[in-house]
Amino acid sequence: MSQKSELLFKLTPESGLTDAEIEKKLSEFGPNELLEKQAVPLYKKIWHHLKDISSLVLLLAIVLATYMAIFQNGGWTKTIVISLILIINVVIGLYQESSAEKSLAALKAMSLPTANGRRNNHDITVAASELVPGDLIYLNTGDQVPADAVVLKETNLTVDEAILTGESLPVSKTCYRLKGHLSDDERVYSGTAVVGGRALVQVSAIGMATELGKIANLLNKTQKRATPLQGKLDHLSKWMTAFAGLGGLIIFVLSMGMQNKTLAESLMIGLSLAVAAVPETLPIIVTISLSRGVKKMADRNAIIRHIGAVETIGNVDVVATDKTGTLTQNKMTITEYWTPETGIKKAADLPKAGQNLLKLLGLANNAKIMEIDGSREVVGDATEVAIVNWLHQQGSSRQELEKETPRIAEDPFDSNKKMMTTVHRLSDGRQLVIVKGAWDRLQLDKKEPIKTGQKAHDDFAKNALRVLAVGYKVIAANADPTNWIENNSNLKLAGMVGLIDPPRPEVSRAVTKAKQAGIKTVMITGDHLVTAKAIAREIGILDSNQKAITGSELQKMTDSELKDCIKDIRVFARVSPSDKIRIVQAWQDIGKTVAMTGDGVNDAPALKAADVGIAMGKTGTEVAKEAADMILTDDNFATIIKAVAEGRTVYQNIIKAVEFLIGVNFAQIFLMVISTIIGWGAPLLAEQLLIINVLADGIPGFFISKEPGEPNIMDQNPIGNDESILGRGLMQRMIIRAVTFTILTLSVYAYGRFILSTNNSQVGMTLVFLVLALGSMIDIYAIKDSQPITVQTFKTNKMLNWGLLLSMMLVLSLTLLPRLRQFLHFALLPVQGWLVVLIGSLIPVFVLEVNKRLTNNIQMEPEKNSC
Ligand code: ATP
Repeated sequence: MSQKSELLFKLTPESGLTDAEIEKKLSEFGPNELLEKQAVPLYKKIWHHLKDISSLVLLLAIVLATYMAIFQNGGWTKTIVISLILIINVVIGLYQESSAEKSLAALKAMSLPTANGRRNNHDITVAASELVPGDLIYLNTGDQVPADAVVLKETNLTVDEAILTGESLPVSKTCYRLKGHLSDDERVYSGTAVVGGRALVQVSAIGMATELGKIANLLNKTQKRATPLQGKLDHLSKWMTAFAGLGGLIIFVLSMGMQNKTLAESLMIGLSLAVAAVPETLPIIVTISLSRGVKKMADRNAIIRHIGAVETIGNVDVVATDKTGTLTQNKMTITEYWTPETGIKKAADLPKAGQNLLKLLGLANNAKIMEIDGSREVVGDATEVAIVNWLHQQGSSRQELEKETPRIAEDPFDSNKKMMTTVHRLSDGRQLVIVKGAWDRLQLDKKEPIKTGQKAHDDFAKNALRVLAVGYKVIAANADPTNWIENNSNLKLAGMVGLIDPPRPEVSRAVTKAKQAGIKTVMITGDHLVTAKAIAREIGILDSNQKAITGSELQKMTDSELKDCIKDIRVFARVSPSDKIRIVQAWQDIGKTVAMTGDGVNDAPALKAADVGIAMGKTGTEVAKEAADMILTDDNFATIIKAVAEGRTVYQNIIKAVEFLIGVNFAQIFLMVISTIIGWGAPLLAEQLLIINVLADGIPGFFISKEPGEPNIMDQNPIGNDESILGRGLMQRMIIRAVTFTILTLSVYAYGRFILSTNNSQVGMTLVFLVLALGSMIDIYAIKDSQPITVQTFKTNKMLNWGLLLSMMLVLSLTLLPRLRQFLHFALLPVQGWLVVLIGSLIPVFVLEVNKRLTNNIQMEPEKNSC
């Protein structure tokens, strides 16, 4: 603890801080936040963009153009145009970078943690950033400690401090001894995870004064990893850059050798071709598409924590999901109960013989009544909330019961044990042990009516009810209340309750949609096999060809046995969180991409191991959220499937941008090289090439990232990790486009120069410029829609229409306005020339559409996985 925070530590009264104290401390200490990485100054950002390979080449071109203007009387056109292009490139880069940063920062703010605490004599929930020194907060298993704090009360509190110490074994904590120097075991530290028990702690240091704050600068230095798609695109860009460099070199050599141009002139055209052919806007389009995907997913209740998850979620093959709360509503209601005395009865019908079961359930319970936004609400585990509601209906309450029979010890519920135990003091001094949990985990005395109990349990489970059984015993006044081994055995059977937790209404449709998209849905649940199977059938996860197994069957299998049969298993029941990691790995071993949901502390390793770890926003622990790549703010399975569609849209848009940018870039290289080889010289001047690069490539390419998903996006199988980026016909389409543009531009150049004029290269250049620029802008409509163009094609993404219109007007004005035309060395075209421009610009879209119809006709139905 820092010196400063130690001095601050003074015990806060049990009622917590008052509003006045909080306000004073907030203004004194500021918010409980770690300072973000220092903002990068503008000049550094500009420098970063100038260091980029295309900018460096452009800078070199400016130097050359200036040299030519001064020493070779070449005029200042090139210098001015290339400088403008460099400035535009840097400004666009800066703008796009900052908008991507802004949307990510906004998202970060959305996933900020909260803390439960006590202020003004009330239990409250506040944003962790609003905590001040002196605040009293409750910590529970699964919480992330929101500030450095001193432990005031605790029950079996254990904390994982790996983030600070690197040691992953949990450390036990004890209460502040109220004397001497505070020792480590009396304190908890910000950023560490509560892995067991609960506690009341008092905040001692916040923000940068915490131990985590001191190492925050180190944490800021961690590099972000590139996503698989970014990796594939980097690879493609490198090849393209090498190809562009080679094209530039060939042009340079040819214009020196065959056309007797000066060194400076040859270098200039070579460099310009290289710049024009490098798809430098591609990385920016990828970042924008991903961050746009992040935003759209957030609008649909899926908060992305790592940007790469946007892409991965679009390609998942398997979604392994918890049942309770994700597939079901997590709104549990006790519908029936059973006791040896009463047999099975409806919950509303509770004779005296059933009262004992109700009382025991009420005592072994941690659900609390809290005031939230002025209204009374029962909060806690949904199973326990159902019990408190039942108590309420029967005119009783936890408080009343605990007053009569106070709790003296607790062994909390844990998903591995699937039960919890509490010990209470009876009025005669003896102790009452209550064990509540899964029927098959209760260790009942042999004399108890186990057979009839089993039958009642199976009846409940077959009707998709969750079953909670209760055992109890009375022990001597002086027995050790924490001897759990002894306490949990030889129990008397009080009875059991059946709880209904209806499936979420939208889940069946989402499961069907996932199936159509080639995605398998796998249910993982702590519930009983019979209950789990009944629900899985109801929502369409399980059919007659598929298997459902239990955690103990899973544990008996070796990794290779599991790998062999994992494809057929759709339900894992009575599993522990530790089994989840094996399920993830088995799927990954057969090459599948897996999304896995989780909410508890023990789920964190599986969430990390999954390709997309998904934590529940409402019921999830902070630890699970911290380990996840995505957080569902509505805890809903259907949201995962919506996120898949969004992820696929992002991927598809990036692929469309690749198709749009790279096909024409190849055509530019071929055009320049072939034309020079056949002795026509360069069919475009350096500045004309560069203008096409900005107006016809950059602007429309940018708007592709705004395309909505195509209607058939969920009718295709997921894209495999090892599937080439050029697969699914992309390579073929790019070749067709490059060949079309090469032949087309060479033809219009020849027509302009030799037929429309008498060897006037300016007429040829003007035609090439217009057909290349307008043609590639128009055929974006054939690229953006994988189905044949219809009126609808022009209705989606209106921004693209406006962007294209603007670009087209700029392109036309460059050749029509006399000053600009002369400045850029264009010719004024006669009417036949404009006719050629019109027809020529429509040819590429026509060719692509014909190809689309031909390939769509012969393409077989996409192969579907059997699921
Ligand atoms: P899912 O994995 O589908 O989300 P879950 O995580 O709620 O389900 P667990 O919490 O592991 O599953 O619950 C498994 C079993 O433990 C339940 O069937 C029930 O019998 C028992 N159980 C659940 N909650 C409690 C509780 N609060 N106290 C005692 N026993 C419980």
